[in-house]
Amino acid sequence: MKPLEKVFIREVGPRDGLQNERLHWTTVDRAEFIRKLTDCGIQSVEAVSFVSSKVVPQMAGAEEVMENLVRRSGVEYVGLVLNATGLQRALATQLDTVNVVVAVSDTFQRKNAGKGRDEALAELLPLAREAVSSGLTVEATLGTAFGCPFEGEIETNTVWDVTERLLAVGVSRVTLADTTGMAHPAQVERACTVFQKKFGQLPGLHFHNTRGLGMANVYAGYVAGARRFDASFGGLGGCPFAPLSVGNVCTEDVVHMFEQMDVSTGIDLDRLLSLASWVTSKVEHELPGYVWRAGPTERANGREAPREESSHV
Ligand code: ZN
Repeated sequence: MKPLEKVFIREVGPRDGLQNERLHWTTVDRAEFIRKLTDCGIQSVEAVSFVSSKVVPQMAGAEEVMENLVRRSGVEYVGLVLNATGLQRALATQLDTVNVVVAVSDTFQRKNAGKGRDEALAELLPLAREAVSSGLTVEATLGTAFGCPFEGEIETNTVWDVTERLLAVGVSRVTLADTTGMAHPAQVERACTVFQKKFGQLPGLHFHNTRGLGMANVYAGYVAGARRFDASFGGLGGCPFAPLSVGNVCTEDVVHMFEQMDVSTGIDLDRLLSLASWVTSKVEHELPGYVWRAGPTERANGREAPREESSHV
């Protein structure tokens, strides 16, 4: 049967995943990881982050990663920036898209980037406008859009206000990020519906699986019309040594779910799954995802049942 719909998955493992891992990857390995991912049909990768290496040593050497990249045509390479310094660095590389990140929660933004939300916006908005007029694609991700660990509930009017200000300077797309896994499916569905009504487009969605709701939230977003999702290979970032830092929804699991639903991702699932052993050897812990362990559903027939003697249903 021909897939009815198409979704677009942005791989954020090389950035959001690796920045939370205990082991620091070399810039060569990070570029190799990106190449392996794009070989599987991934069409957009958040490759690097232009943040201070003192604060996030895992992301040091963004320029080197970009230089080491074997670029594949048709793939969008994205870099994350938090401030003017980051944007200047990003502009000197061969990125296709700059992703400006601002937390909706003022407290979270202060802790994450050393400045409050409005101060960060005052700095970033004119720069984003300038970058857009020079021909660069600029997107924005709103952190803590569904809840903040310090402030709790996030006023949705603040989310809309920040979105409006970003779109007004030419930012092409806004992604709502559930930075610490506080979103639930009904909330996601509501947010997508209101977003579309207000801005005439659907948001990108970025979920962490902190409370096990990542996949349910992806599905809720899909049902509400969203077609762009961030995901991280293997669910990277869920480092067992930092229990409060839980990874993104897992790319292979998201691809598997959509393909099961006859929704096309353009990604070769088998090839993607074959990366699991290489990535596991690099992070030195088991990956939190599911499908690399159990295999895709269509191959489950005839598979040996679990050995435990019990009445599992
Ligand atoms: Zn994230």
